[in-house]
Amino acid sequence: MNTAMLIGSSFERGTETEENVLNPRTGATILHLPEASQDQIDRACAAAAKAFVTWSRTTPAERSAYLLKIADAIEAEADAFAALEAQNCGKPVNAVRNDEIPAIIDCYRFFAGAVRTMPGHAAGEYLPGFTSMIRRDPVGVVGSIAPWNYPLMMMAWKLAPAIGGGNTVVFKPSEQTPLTALKLARLLADILPEGVVNVVLGRGETVGNALINHPLVNMISITGDVATGKKVLQAAAKSVKRTHLELGGKAPVIVHDDADLDAVVNGIRAFGYYNAGQDCTAACRIYAGSGIYDRLVADLTSAVSTIRYANDDDADNEIGPLISARQRDRVASFVQRASELKHIDITTGGATHGDEGFYYKPTVVAGALQSDEIVRREVFGPVVSVTRFTGDDDVVAWANDSDYGLASSVWTKDVGKAMQAAARLHYGCTWINTHFMLCNEMPHGGLKSSGYGKDMSLYALEDYTAIRHVMIAHG
Ligand code: NAD
Repeated sequence: MNTAMLIGSSFERGTETEENVLNPRTGATILHLPEASQDQIDRACAAAAKAFVTWSRTTPAERSAYLLKIADAIEAEADAFAALEAQNCGKPVNAVRNDEIPAIIDCYRFFAGAVRTMPGHAAGEYLPGFTSMIRRDPVGVVGSIAPWNYPLMMMAWKLAPAIGGGNTVVFKPSEQTPLTALKLARLLADILPEGVVNVVLGRGETVGNALINHPLVNMISITGDVATGKKVLQAAAKSVKRTHLELGGKAPVIVHDDADLDAVVNGIRAFGYYNAGQDCTAACRIYAGSGIYDRLVADLTSAVSTIRYANDDDADNEIGPLISARQRDRVASFVQRASELKHIDITTGGATHGDEGFYYKPTVVAGALQSDEIVRREVFGPVVSVTRFTGDDDVVAWANDSDYGLASSVWTKDVGKAMQAAARLHYGCTWINTHFMLCNEMPHGGLKSSGYGKDMSLYALEDYTAIRHVMIAHG
């Protein structure tokens, strides 16, 4: 297992405080990893700045070829990547191998194609005697900071459009889940020119903070908590860095009385609890019409109580534990406070599971009201709330009454009703009669406190490049 950071072309272990990297299924320490020092961060940023000079001048076709090689290298070691990610995150290995790894490989392949087809404005004579054209050029050194919920996928979402667009990167994985980033760093060192991607390790308040304040970093891309996003903005304000923020979510799921109940229940069972609910698009805030509410709560409760987890045979598991004891306790405290309200009924789950690992039982919180904390705050765990609405309630207004604006869904057989809701919902994504489905061709990103900037799609390439105007005088 690689435990060394990638700085330029050299592999070095950090020299500062050691972080415990845990297996969330057991709570056991996998290994200790030391953080990067200021000198190591400086050298990583300097290596990226140096590499930018030549990397930014490569052709799209050359960068495309590199991205394809990265995709092939991950594919060749797909099983090993899946096993390592599963160990570090506690995810069922089949979920990583069958869901995440193919999407990660496809992300690099998508940007390998996309970078060669960058769209642009027509060149023309907008003033007589002058020809104007638009260039879309790289921004420079990108400081990329990732969370722990999908470590290798977040790395793909950040690296592929950044280096595809001609930027160079200093990447910091979450201190809790650095193992697949370190493994990929080994492969990247053999594929990419020196300094194009550098990987440094450490906590947010130390290494992350040094990166977002670094004078050689031109753009910061972060996926994480809203509070962390605000710190990035404060740091960026000092030196006017570009920012790309993917922050939290609290996805509303509007279920009308005419919806296909089985599809709704199967959808929430899958998309509310996937990755133990540690997903910013999780289908976690259900609004059910009064004509379907009782049946939905009953059927969802039965369905959620069958979610398989914590089995010795990992092939039988659908979800894993939470990432840490801290996260499990945070989830438990949300449910505890909700359960103290008279109108709330915890119809399944509502407790931790076992003594080993960081498990929390898949939970349904029925009877929640719009003003309840469980409806308003991001829990980031296997917990779904259900709120009743009547025909007189403006459920879209309730759905929009949130600090977050990342993902939403509407379930109904009435196409007109669905389209009206989609037009009014103030969210980066609205799914109709489904939820959670992402593809590399389509943008992912939020509004309001969920941040701004798109991952995946041509829009991510736009975010990682700067529009420039070139004018030629020709008389
Ligand atoms: P976090 O904000 O604590 O950490 C995310 C990353 O930021 C980590 O690498 C961390 O070390 C770093 N960081 C923390 N403080 C920092 C600082 N002061 N300066 C620089 N870097 C700092 O979030 P997390 O707990 O790892 O991830 C969970 C959060 O991420 C949830 O709120 C979730 O909704 C959000 N998330 C959002 C998306 C999205 O696409 N919008 C995707 C995944 C996760």
